[in-house]
Parts: sequence; C-alpha cells; structure tokens
Amino acid sequence: MLERSHQMRLHQFEAASADSARTARIRATFERLIASTGSPPDVELRAVTGPLNAEVLLGRVLVVSEAAGDLPEGERLLLLAHEFGHVALGHWQALAALYRTHIPGEVRPETTDPVAGVLGLQAHRMAHRHEFEADAWGYRLLRQLGFGIEHAMALLMRRGATVDTATHPATRRRLAQVRVIDSQIDHPDLASGHAASLVAERDR
Ligand SMILES: [Zn+2]
Repeated sequence: MLERSHQMRLHQFEAASADSARTARIRATFERLIASTGSPPDVELRAVTGPLNAEVLLGRVLVVSEAAGDLPEGERLLLLAHEFGHVALGHWQALAALYRTHIPGEVRPETTDPVAGVLGLQAHRMAHRHEFEADAWGYRLLRQLGFGIEHAMALLMRRGATVDTATHPATRRRLAQVRVIDSQIDHPDLASGHAASLVAERDR
C-alpha cells in the first residue's frame, strides 16, 4: 500500500531539463554529499520541475525540484543532507514495517479500515520522529562541511513558520532542535540536559 502510493507520486513528477545550470548545481551538491559521507547511502537523484521541494520516495529515489538550484549552497546542502539522513537511518524500512504490522495480508477495505485510526496515529508519530532525526543527521553533516546555523534557519523559514502537520513538526520545534545540536557541537561537555528535555517535548 505504501509502496503503491510512492510509485504513484513518483510518476506525477516531470523531469527537469538535465542540462540546465540549476540541475547542474543540484547534481554538484549531491556529489559533494556523496563524497563527504563515509558510507554514502544508496540514493538515485532525480531532478524535477516545480516549486522548492525534496523528498525520498521508495526509500532510495531522491526527488529534488529544480528550484533547489537557486538556493545558496549551504541551504541546498542541508536540503539534500536531510533527505540523505532519511535514507541512512532506514526510515522507509521502518515505516514499511509499521504498515506490515497493521496490514500483514492483502490490502482490502476489510483489512485496512479497522486499523486506519491507530495506524494513522502511529505513522504520524513516526513521521515526526523521523523528521527530527533527519534534521539532526543533516545538520551535523552540514556543520562538518563548514556551514553554520544561519543556513538551517534560512532553509527552515523558507516556507514560513508552519505549525505541526501530519508529516512534519512545526518549524519552531525543528529550529529549536537545530539550536540544541548546534550548541552540543560547540560545547560537547554540556550536551545531555538539553537533548533530554527536547525529546520529552517531541512526544507531547
Ligand atoms: Zn524529511
């Protein structure tokens, strides 16, 4: 069921021109990330048309809109690094396993309707946790590459300060986590207290 919805979404995208300057910048940033991660995740880059967006479909196809080619390098790096984080941390596999737990057999209304509520809630919680984890993974990599918090702030604020949605935590909470990680990197000695309180806030 999950796989079919990702397949359908993948087919809805229109490929961006492969030889545009924007696509070239996206590919260069992608290659830079591949080169800078010790064991690069198995990811296929696909540049598409449309407004600023990046997402991983089917656990390995990184769909990036060509608008990402207009971002400053630091923001483009984080946009892609966040998605690398989803792949490196096995988020697709975790979500697929959650679906299988609730819908082990054939997908029919009789099998999916009774579990839709609880599956929806658990998938929602998992999605938020995955977003925080991908932000953290991507931001640490961004710092390793010499870019600072201003790039994370700028990227997260590009869609304005959004509230919690089904798939993404509120911008304010994502920014809060990035600030905590930033201070942890700069002051590893006083790391643990802040992180614990932040995790508590996540599950509220
Ligand atoms: Zn994400």
